[in-house]
Amino acid sequence: MTATTREPISIEQFVHQPFDGADGLIAGSDICVQCGVCLSACPTYQLTGEEIQSPRGRVMLYRAAAEGLTKDFEVVLEAAYDCLDCRACQTVCPSGVKPGEMAVETRVALQGGKPPSWQIAAILEPFKYPWAWDVMNFGVRTYQGLGLQKWVRSSKILEKFGTVGKKLAELENIIPSKVAPSIRTKLSPTTPAVGEQRGRVAFFLGCLMNAFFSEASSATVKVLTLNGFEVVTPRETTCCGAPHIEEGDRVGFDQVAKRNLDLFDGLEVEAIITDCAGCGAELKKYVKMFKDDPEYAAKAERFSSKSYGISEFLRKHGLRELPQTDAPSMSVTYQDACHLCHGQGCSTQPRDLLKQNPLVEYRELEKASDCCGSAGIYNITHPDMSYKILEGKMERVRESGAQVLSVENPGCLLQLEAGTRKYNVDVEVLHTSQILLAAYEKNNPR
Ligand code: SF4
Ligand code: SF4
Repeated sequence: MTATTREPISIEQFVHQPFDGADGLIAGSDICVQCGVCLSACPTYQLTGEEIQSPRGRVMLYRAAAEGLTKDFEVVLEAAYDCLDCRACQTVCPSGVKPGEMAVETRVALQGGKPPSWQIAAILEPFKYPWAWDVMNFGVRTYQGLGLQKWVRSSKILEKFGTVGKKLAELENIIPSKVAPSIRTKLSPTTPAVGEQRGRVAFFLGCLMNAFFSEASSATVKVLTLNGFEVVTPRETTCCGAPHIEEGDRVGFDQVAKRNLDLFDGLEVEAIITDCAGCGAELKKYVKMFKDDPEYAAKAERFSSKSYGISEFLRKHGLRELPQTDAPSMSVTYQDACHLCHGQGCSTQPRDLLKQNPLVEYRELEKASDCCGSAGIYNITHPDMSYKILEGKMERVRESGAQVLSVENPGCLLQLEAGTRKYNVDVEVLHTSQILLAAYEKNNPR
């Protein structure tokens, strides 16, 4: 870390430290007028009805800690970690308070820029190495190929081992039931445009997308090429850093983000495209995170200014004509990923692409912009709350009657697919790119 990068502060320093971190959350709590508009948007408040589980209550607590009125940092951290960082409160707050981002700032400040525990550090470590996700992909495919996953699920063997077994069964249920080989090593460094070339873009390989949803990422690259874009895919891309910063690990975030900034800076591309909402929100934030870093500020500015989510990019440039069909062949509903709609303000673009798709009969999902409970690793750290949130979400998906549920984030894909099994909802969960590719290839992705 360079001298001018914002240094993580110690717990002692946290007292009297205003929230003036990388996002300019200066006196963030002071502008809260305690109106309570945010309460109805907050999933944890909706479920518990407790002020400490609301954006307003959390903001007051962060301020109390920052002003030295409380030194019970465990309570402050617990409140910060109970927050999903879904940022629904930020979308509705009339005063511009950012309780979701303040939760992350609080975690960073109180933990001195380090992960909260060795267990979380162990979970975060593989995110630093691109090959680690290929290994995970291979392991999961072997587990599935040997028929172990089917046996574990049908025999319910894990549930027979008490509380620990039940927890393991819940974790196991998060693994998708069908995983294709990772695309990191398969995809050529450059994929040519189809037809007349409209531009040259880079594709940002995501960790979870590569490990679990490589078919979706393959579809993203194919759709880009079918729309006339040559696609460059650097294989050495590492995690965007979102999992690290969400856990307060500013040090780990800097490591991976700087590697990406070095890697992409030399590429002659007009855009850097991701099909992961969490990555997109983080890549656009590099400019703020490194604004005071003399070595990386300019690189981060160039990088963030070129970063787009796939739907945002395609909507901006317009789709090439889609082959027409006699009638739609599937009903599709759409779940907003929090880091796409609340984090990047991108909600109309994916819907527009689905509505333009001749295969699709579009159905709006009730409360589509409410979090699904995935929220990074929240479903692992807070399973009870996460599954309560997911249960309501899956009930509304069922009520939509749609055959396909579309979403643009790997955490949501994992969580929602797990929800179909846990709550027995007959719906296929797919990335928007897969539905778009199906229209170009005139097939049915279900
Ligand atoms: S965070 Fe915003 S919406 Fe919530 S109480 Fe404060 S000012 Fe009102
Ligand atoms: S980010 Fe989400 S969970 Fe956290 S306070 Fe805001 S609405 Fe509630």
